[in-house]
Amino acid sequence: MSEAPNAQLPKSVDPNRLAEQNTTLEGVIPLAGLVRFSEAVPGLPEGSECHVKLSFYMDSERRRLVSGEVSAPVILECQRCMNNMQTTLESRFDLGLVLNDEQAQRLPKALEPFPMEDYNADLWAMVEDELLLVLPPFPLHERQDCPASKELEALEPQQATEKPEAKKREDNPFSVLAGLKNTKH
Ligand SMILES: [Zn+2]
Repeated sequence: MSEAPNAQLPKSVDPNRLAEQNTTLEGVIPLAGLVRFSEAVPGLPEGSECHVKLSFYMDSERRRLVSGEVSAPVILECQRCMNNMQTTLESRFDLGLVLNDEQAQRLPKALEPFPMEDYNADLWAMVEDELLLVLPPFPLHERQDCPASKELEALEPQQATEKPEAKKREDNPFSVLAGLKNTKH
């Protein structure tokens, strides 16, 4: 997100103070430090980091809110060819920080509740939850990058090129027979 050396995003913050001061935090999280996420994916590029930008603010009803953007490189398994593929997960989200269920239920529908305990929020858990939400259930290579797409083309005649068609005609035993009939006379 920036050319400056990336600082690590703090794990635990006082979101009230950050919201009152309209603070934006930008930083990285080493993906190996997000255990639930690491275990949910086939692999992580070596030394990979999640880039995070979180803006804390208050709305007119003095609710503490967070707007976030995260992006993380990840290795997934293509469900067409079953080979690994590297891709980038990206998410934008809006959260309302809540101390209890009552506050969570009063949030506008556009906001997801995120719990804070004793005015303390775990930002790494916040980011990890968002990454888990955007994990694609059925990841696929781009068609041109997928080794299995050639096999698929063979099964889909409308996708086939002209050449295999021409070859089929040559191999047709009836056309050979027809040729023999013609030369008999
Ligand atoms: Zn593939």
